[in-house]
Amino acid sequence: MSVLIKGGRVVTASDDYVADVFVDGERVSLIGESLELDADRVIDARGKYLLPGCVDPHTHLDMPFGGTTTIDDVESGQTAAAFGGTTCHVDFCIQGKGQTFADALAIWHEKAAGKQLIDMGYHIAVTDLSGEGALEELARLPDQGVTSYKLFMAYKGALMVDDETLFRTMEVAAKTGALVMVHAENGDAIDVLVKQALAAGHTEPRWHALTRPPETEGEATNRAIQLARVAGSPLYVVHVSCKESVEPIAAARAKGWEVWGETCTQYFFIDDTFLERPNFEGAKYVYTPPPRDKANQDVLWDAVRTGVLSAISTDHCAFSWDGQKSLGRDDFSKIPNGGPGLENRLQMIHHFGVREGRITLNRMVELLATSPARLFGLYPRKGTLAVGSDADIVVFDPEKRVTISAANHHSRIDYNLYEGTEVVGSPEVVLLRGHVLLEGGELVASPGIGQYVARAKFGQELTGTGRAVPA
Ligand SMILES: [Zn+2]
Repeated sequence: MSVLIKGGRVVTASDDYVADVFVDGERVSLIGESLELDADRVIDARGKYLLPGCVDPHTHLDMPFGGTTTIDDVESGQTAAAFGGTTCHVDFCIQGKGQTFADALAIWHEKAAGKQLIDMGYHIAVTDLSGEGALEELARLPDQGVTSYKLFMAYKGALMVDDETLFRTMEVAAKTGALVMVHAENGDAIDVLVKQALAAGHTEPRWHALTRPPETEGEATNRAIQLARVAGSPLYVVHVSCKESVEPIAAARAKGWEVWGETCTQYFFIDDTFLERPNFEGAKYVYTPPPRDKANQDVLWDAVRTGVLSAISTDHCAFSWDGQKSLGRDDFSKIPNGGPGLENRLQMIHHFGVREGRITLNRMVELLATSPARLFGLYPRKGTLAVGSDADIVVFDPEKRVTISAANHHSRIDYNLYEGTEVVGSPEVVLLRGHVLLEGGELVASPGIGQYVARAKFGQELTGTGRAVPA
């Protein structure tokens, strides 16, 4: 199968030019002007952008949490991703207490079997190192393509680890070439604040934010940065939501430390007043860290523009409002934490970031594709549009008008964080390794086409011998 894409505006993290792109099999084989080649399929992309398929480094599909399971499984979640121009994601495989990493990974691979529409990898979420040989097993995972270790510094009594577990994992990562990822919030302090709020009779969704003040995120971010420095491991702070967390990341990076951070789409658009919406509507915005005050939105735009933060993920962790969020109708601490977003990241960041002049088109590609691919061992097979890369290509119509709504999205969730938002610019055709996934507003591929990707170790290229992450 070969595809010739004619006359599109090729946009990568560094380049922007009009060209034809020829795909032979699953890889991009030629990019040039006015290519005259026979192809099984010709796509006219004049007036469109050709973007590398986006990479989402932070999703939770089919994940048990808070007494229920996220409503999107691999098939529905990846369908939503494909419609949003995302062709590869890295999901979290969560180690159960007392479980080996091998057993956890087997369960997660089973969840994906036969359902994959896009490519994916796994981060391992370390919750328990007390088992016999756990540290040794953890050290072997990067050789199997699982090259990032995630730790939760919050969710006391559930996923949270103590500092010993965090630090020991960092020490392993320093030796094995894994990237340590942290959910940075002080879970002990938050647990006290939640108990006090409930004891005082505060049960509404807005108390989710009031019991997780920005300082608890800032403290944990700084603690993780300092401990990673001692252990000698690289660190990636997930879902940075506020100034208190941006500042220690900026300080560490200014010193040249191996620290990176991401934020998520929702933190640019949803503020803490959304949690006050009546009739339990506020529960739709209960995710962690919580929506912050509006001033933090400018802090985050500045951070992604200036390189303090390196990626924008979705943290897609979808729980329906009716039936799942409602578990916490009488107690905000029982509302499953998480929000959707896998489908709308590119549309939202293109419209409000690029069109409204906050970031450049190149920087958008870097934040949504190139930088996550580099950090998570997928580059240059993923995250760029170049000869030799996987032909994961988004033909993006920069003028297409879309009204975002739960009525037309592809996730199974019953609400959308950006309900009613009008955006200009949306994917028109999406290719995964040369196969057309999406066109004419329809999914045209079948589950099973997506693959598991064994990722390269931190700093290394997935193919070739170069260094993926700039020194
Ligand atoms: Zn998450």
